[in-house]
Amino acid sequence: MNEITIFSPATVANVSCGFDAMGFALESLGDEMIFKKTESKEVVISKIEGANLPFEACNNVAGVVAQNMLKDANADFGLDIQIFKNFKPGSGLGSSAASASGTAYAVNELLSKKYSNLELTKFAMQGEVTACGSAIADNVAAAIYGGFVLIRNYEPLDIVSIPTPSELVATVIHPQIEIKTEDARKVMPSEIPLKTAIGQWANVGGLISGLHASDFDLIGRSLVDNVAEPVRKGLIPHFDAVKEASIKAGALGTGISGSGPSIFALSEGIETANKVKEAMHAVYKDSGIDFTLYVSRISTTGARAI
Ligand code: ADP
Repeated sequence: MNEITIFSPATVANVSCGFDAMGFALESLGDEMIFKKTESKEVVISKIEGANLPFEACNNVAGVVAQNMLKDANADFGLDIQIFKNFKPGSGLGSSAASASGTAYAVNELLSKKYSNLELTKFAMQGEVTACGSAIADNVAAAIYGGFVLIRNYEPLDIVSIPTPSELVATVIHPQIEIKTEDARKVMPSEIPLKTAIGQWANVGGLISGLHASDFDLIGRSLVDNVAEPVRKGLIPHFDAVKEASIKAGALGTGISGSGPSIFALSEGIETANKVKEAMHAVYKDSGIDFTLYVSRISTTGARAI
C-alpha cells in the first residue's frame, strides 16, 4: 500500500461523570486526511484546508505522530500528508486528537498494521503533547478505538472499550467563543470532598453499566458531573439554559464536551436527537454568538480508511 485516505472522528472527552477518564467518538463529524508514501524519509505537510495550522511537521500533531512512528518502525519511506479539517480547533471536540489519531491509524496501515490500538494511542498521545502540553488519552483513545472508552490507568496505559448501544445519538452545539485551556484548568479545584468523589465514581459505574445493558434511563441518571461542570459551566454562555432545554426535549443527559465550549447531549434515537438540536438552536439563536450544531451517531470504528 502506497497511499491511504482516512476519516478521523471528532470526540467528546470527559462525558460528564467520566471527567478525565472517558470519551466517545462521533460517527459523522471528523477530519479527512490523505497520506502518500514518498522516497525521501521526510514528513511533509503539503496541504491544510479548513483551519489555520502550522505546516512545519514538528509543530503539527500529524507531523509529530508520523515522524515518531516512522522512526520507531525504522521505515524506509517518508510521507506527504494532506489535512482537511471539518471542525474548528479549540472547540472541545478533539481537533488535535483527530489529526493525531488519524495519523497513527493511517501510518499503521502503511506499515502493514505493525502496531496494536494501545500502541497507536501512545503514539497519538505524543501528538497531544504538541497540541496542549500534556499526554492526555481520552480524545485520542476514543478516536482510535471508536465507541466509548474508559482510560482506566495511565502508568501503564490501560484503555477499556465500552459497548455502545446503537440507538444512542449525540447532539452537539459549538458556540464559537474561545475558552483558554489555562482558564478551564484554573477553575478546577485541586481537592474535592469525599462525598463529591463518591457521587462521581458511583455515576461512572452507573454510566458504564447502562452502556453495557443499553439501559437508557440508567445512562441518563448517571450523566451527572459534580466535579468539573459546576466550576466550568460559568465559562460557557447559556449552559444551564441549553441543558434545561435539551432535557425538556427528551435528552438523556447533557454535559460539557472536553473543556468546552461545546456542549453535548445524548439521546435515544435520531428523532429525539433532532428535537434536542432544535431546542439548543432556540436557546442560542438570539444570543449574538455564532454557533454550529451537529447530530451524530456514535462511531463504532474510530479512525477508518475511506
Ligand atoms: P479541541 O480539543 O478543543 O478541539 P485541541 O486541544 O485539539 O482543541 O487544540 C488545538 C491546538 O492544537 C491548537 O493550538 C492547534 O494550533 C494545535 N494543533 C497542532 N496541530 C494540529 C492539527 N493537526 N490539528 C488541530 N490542532 C493542531
